Amino acid sequence: MGIIKTKNLAFEYIRRDEEGNVEGITRALDDINLDVEQGDFVAILGHNGSGKSTLAKHINAILYPTEGTIWVDGKDTAEDENLWDIRQEAGMVFQNPDNQIIGQVVEEDVGFGPENLGVPAKEIWERVEESLKAVGMYEFRKYSPNKLSGGQKQRVSIAGVIAMHPKCIILDEPTAMLDPSGRREVIRAARALNDVEEITIILITHYMEEIIHANKVFVMDKGKVAMEGTPGEIFSRVEELKELRLDVPQVTLLAHELQKSGVAVPDGILTCEELVEALKALH
Ligand code: ADP
Ligand code: MG
Repeated sequence: MGIIKTKNLAFEYIRRDEEGNVEGITRALDDINLDVEQGDFVAILGHNGSGKSTLAKHINAILYPTEGTIWVDGKDTAEDENLWDIRQEAGMVFQNPDNQIIGQVVEEDVGFGPENLGVPAKEIWERVEESLKAVGMYEFRKYSPNKLSGGQKQRVSIAGVIAMHPKCIILDEPTAMLDPSGRREVIRAARALNDVEEITIILITHYMEEIIHANKVFVMDKGKVAMEGTPGEIFSRVEELKELRLDVPQVTLLAHELQKSGVAVPDGILTCEELVEALKALH
């Protein structure tokens, strides 16, 4: 079994009035079956309300299935005795870095996680150092977090998760509030953790260009997995992506239009370089 596996996973938000009567039910996840291997870099795409955050919250046992099962590192999240193992093995990074950083000083903030796990003091400092180095923020260790840019804060949040020595990190739209350079910093940090430390990455995003480095992509729609494949496979299905209201990268659209008008470029072009190479090959 992979690091994350779900079987017929479904989740319903139930709204109740003051007397406790059910007012409405939203089926946010519906029959999700997925398998993520240790070391995968997974991207999850989908427009607002498609169920991405609800799925993320199942991976570190913030929410439990209404139906079906989710296992993290072989452990069923619905069993209470697995809770602390799962929270340590699968760390979450959210959209807004300001809601995640609680320390007055960067290194102190990163140390909170291992401290809560009861890690001995000497090892906490080793972990803080290694985590800050892994995201390229070690030189800022003595800074106050509110002196940092959005991208830097988000990298500190990631360091705080790494310091818990997780097997898997779930990033729920970590770049949504960042400028382009902040977005690049965060994505680069996530890639490095995947390449160097072999930490499984689950990246939820609606920026298509951020999924290029993933080895698996899931596209969600109305609580279901609507598409699944490598980035190249997903990007070659331009019409379906448009139907799912996703913003396909300009270069992919251009390649698709060229193809439709008879220019023999391959499917699933993701970068300008690829398009240039494909066009050069034709001449
Ligand atoms: P995404 O992250 O893809 O935008 P969500 O998982 O946040 O999607 O939401 C999926 C669906 O569940 C949406 O219809 C949303 O309105 C609903 N939903 C999300 N959170 C709650 C909540 N706390 N209570 C009720 N409904 C919710
Ligand atoms: Mg969300």
